Amino acid sequence: MEASGTENVIIIGSGPAGYTAALYTARAELAPLVIEGFAWGGLLQQTTDVENFPGYPEGVTGPDMMQQLRDQAERFGSRFLTDQATRVELATEPGGLHRVWVEDDEYTARSVILAMGAEHRKLGVPGEAELSGRGVSYCATCDAAFFKERRTVIVGGGDSAMEEAMFLAKFSSTVTIVHRRDEFRASRIMLDRARAVENIEWLTPYAVEELLPGESGALGTARLRHTSSGEPRELELSGMFVAIGHVPQSELVHGSVELDENGYVVVDGRSTRTTLPGVFAAGDLVDHTYRQAITAAGSGCQAALDAEWYLRDTPALGPGAAAPAAI
Ligand code: NAP
Repeated sequence: MEASGTENVIIIGSGPAGYTAALYTARAELAPLVIEGFAWGGLLQQTTDVENFPGYPEGVTGPDMMQQLRDQAERFGSRFLTDQATRVELATEPGGLHRVWVEDDEYTARSVILAMGAEHRKLGVPGEAELSGRGVSYCATCDAAFFKERRTVIVGGGDSAMEEAMFLAKFSSTVTIVHRRDEFRASRIMLDRARAVENIEWLTPYAVEELLPGESGALGTARLRHTSSGEPRELELSGMFVAIGHVPQSELVHGSVELDENGYVVVDGRSTRTTLPGVFAAGDLVDHTYRQAITAAGSGCQAALDAEWYLRDTPALGPGAAAPAAI
């Protein structure tokens, strides 16, 4: 089915980047259509307290903040499609129309803002997928309470692993941090804080090789291997939290805009312009350095302004195209 009318701007994704882009383009009277996914709100939906977003002196929960960002974008005329974009055909000529599908429904737009964010990186070991949700989790803040007084493991050596371990330690009897090296990527302050927690143990340098179910069918054993001596080791556990970084959710645009070797969308300098005219990218889809809610929101604002200027300066090509936006 072809949806009627050509949009000025379609925003794909709905974290702080997507909703901020929606807020700004809505205020520019571009009536953005946000294809926000089923689990709208992005990774922040999985966090408890956000204490470092300016303007919330008492902190705010991730879900509350995302609801507020969404409400604010809606107030100025953003429209939301709580569904998944499944395919795109992005124009290569300035002024060309971009096509976005949600299953069989087709939408066309003069500009597109990509803000699909990132997802948790998986270990990719046998048993991980089968036991996901049955002892294997990627979000301590979501699932820690299921492991009260149980033995759990965090995999990873970055700030996320430290943060998750400290949160989990409030619930679990013992939290073991398993990391593949003896050195940690985590910042000094986070490492020191985690080291000061009594029920956090450390096991390095070990890699996870396989996860096995216990009698109940949920996670029971992790098979590890010492990364230099090769010595195998088994750990009995109830929960494993994988905190080994994130991967950008760029599958939708593979083969259309340029991606770097890690799958992040490449943008032009400090702008949000991708390698295709009228296609902009923001947030964790682009940023592998800062990855904060506030930086994602800032880049969503930039993408909105870049899209606004593009629409103002670029005549539309082809029949059925909307006239240049009067901005
Ligand atoms: P990260 O810094 O990239 O760390 C990922 C960790 O996972 C590394 O220790 C890495 O090991 C390990 N790892 C990666 N792939 C692995 C695999 N296949 N198997 C086993 N281990 C693997 O990611 P992050 O911790 O998510 O942090 C991302 C960014 O967010 C950082 O800039 C961080 O500072 C920031 N952050 C800040 C805070 C805070 O300040 N409160 C909290 C969370 C995140 P190697 O070291 O061996 O590569």
